[in-house]
Amino acid sequence: MKKELYRKIPKVDSMIEKKEFKDYLKKIDQKIVVGIIRKYLDGLRSEISSSDDLKKLEKSIENIDKTILDRLDSIYSSNLKRVINCTGVVVHTNLGRSVLSEDIFNEIKDILTHYTNLEYDLSKGERGSRYNIVEDVICLLTGAEAALVVNNNAAAVILALNTLSSGKEAIVSRGELVEIGGSFRIPEVMRMGGAELVEVGTTNRTHLVDFENAISENTGVILKVHTSNYKVIGFSKNVDSADLVKLGKERDIIVMEDLGSGTMVDLSKFNIAYEPTVHECVKKGVDVVTFSGDKLLGGPQAGIILGNKELVGRMKKNQLTRALRVDKFTLASLESVCRKYLLESKALKEIPTLRMIIQPEEEIKFKAEKLYKMIKDKNPSANVKTEKCKSKIGGGSLPEELLDSYAVALYPDKTNASRIDREFRSLEIPIVARINEDRVILDMRTVFDDDYEIIAEEVNRILE
Ligand SMILES: *Cc1c(COP(=O)(O)O)cnc(C)c1O
Repeated sequence: MKKELYRKIPKVDSMIEKKEFKDYLKKIDQKIVVGIIRKYLDGLRSEISSSDDLKKLEKSIENIDKTILDRLDSIYSSNLKRVINCTGVVVHTNLGRSVLSEDIFNEIKDILTHYTNLEYDLSKGERGSRYNIVEDVICLLTGAEAALVVNNNAAAVILALNTLSSGKEAIVSRGELVEIGGSFRIPEVMRMGGAELVEVGTTNRTHLVDFENAISENTGVILKVHTSNYKVIGFSKNVDSADLVKLGKERDIIVMEDLGSGTMVDLSKFNIAYEPTVHECVKKGVDVVTFSGDKLLGGPQAGIILGNKELVGRMKKNQLTRALRVDKFTLASLESVCRKYLLESKALKEIPTLRMIIQPEEEIKFKAEKLYKMIKDKNPSANVKTEKCKSKIGGGSLPEELLDSYAVALYPDKTNASRIDREFRSLEIPIVARINEDRVILDMRTVFDDDYEIIAEEVNRILE
C-alpha cells in the first residue's frame, strides 16, 4: 500500500512541464521553483514512511499541485502587506505603530530614489555626519542642547546606559521596573547596557530619600522610567523628575529619563489625560531624555536621545552607536515629521497618529455613517448598524485613556462573527476588526479615506 503511494508521487521534471508551473518560471527562477517542489516531495516521502494515516497521505498526494502552487503564490506576493485597521487602536504595535502620511511619503520619495548628502557636508565639500541631519530641528522643538537618533527607544536606553553608567550602578524605583510588550524589560536592558541595577523603594511607593540613601561613589545614573503601559493607583507615590534633578545636581549624578512615548504636544488640550511633553521634561533639567519615534511622535521607528553637548557627544563616540545607527529611510521620514511640528496646528492635521488621536467623535460618526450608507446602498437587507464605541491610543501610551468613537457594527446571522473576522484577515488587503460578543465592530477612528470602498465591498461579499 505504501509502495503504491510512493509511486503516485510525481517527478519534478514532469511537474514543471505543466502549464501552471511554466507560468511561474517566468516570474521565479527555475532552480528556486525546483527547490521548493523537491523539498515538499521529500517531506511527503518521509511522511509516508512515518505515518499510517493512508487517507490523509492520499489526499496530500492528490493536492500536490495545488499546495505547491499556493506556496509559489505566497512566495511571489509580498509578505508585508497593507492592512486596514478597524480596531480603533491608533498606535497599534502589531500593525506597524505610526503611519506616515502620503504627503510625507512624497516628500521623502525624491530623497530615497536618488543620491543624498547623508554623510556629505555640502558647504565644505567633505565628509559630513549623518547625525547632523535631524539634530537641529529636534533641538529646536525640544529645547535640548544636543540630540542623537538611533534605531529605536530600546537602543537609545541601552546606548545611554552603556555610555554613562557602564560598570557603575544605575538607581531605579521598584515602581518603574517595567516590561514593555516584545519583552523590553528595564532590568535586562540595564544589564545589556553594562549597568548594575540598584532598586529602591517599593512597588507602590518610592521617596526621594530612597534615592538619596542609594547613592554611592559607584553611582553612574539615576534612571526614571515613564510607566507608560500601566498605572499604580491607590496608596502610591513616586518621585518627580524635578526632585531627582535637584538631587542629581547636589550630588553630581546624571539623571536620565526614559519617556517611552514622548509626546511633543500637550494632549490635555484635547481632553486626553495629561502626559508630560518632551519639552517639559527637558525644561525640568533632566540630563538625558529618551523616547520613541513611532509612538506619539507619529514618525518612523527610531529612538531619540536628548542631552547636553558633552553627554550626547560621548554617546556619538561610543562604538555601539555605529551598530545602532539609523539609515536614510529613517532620517528622511523623521526629519519630515519633525518639520511638521514647527507649526503645531500643522502637525495636528498632517501627522496621521496625532490627527486620529484628537479626531472628534462627530467626525468619526460622520465616517461611520458614510460607510454604513455604502454598505446599505448595495445591500439594503444587510444587518449593520452604526454605534458608539471606545478606541485606545495604544503603543503603551496612556493605557487608561479611552477615546469616544464611532463604529459600524455587523450583526451576522448566517455566519458567526469570528468566521467573518477570519475571512477579513485572509483578504488580499486584510481587514483587522474587533469582535464583541457576536458582532464585528469596525471602529472608524483608524480607517482611512481609501479604505472605505474595500471595506464596503468585502462586507457585502461576506454578508451575502
Ligand atoms: C515603548 C517603550 C520603550 C521601547 O521603545 P521602542 O521604540 O519600541 O524600542 C522603552 N521604554 C518605554 C517606557 C516605552 O514605553
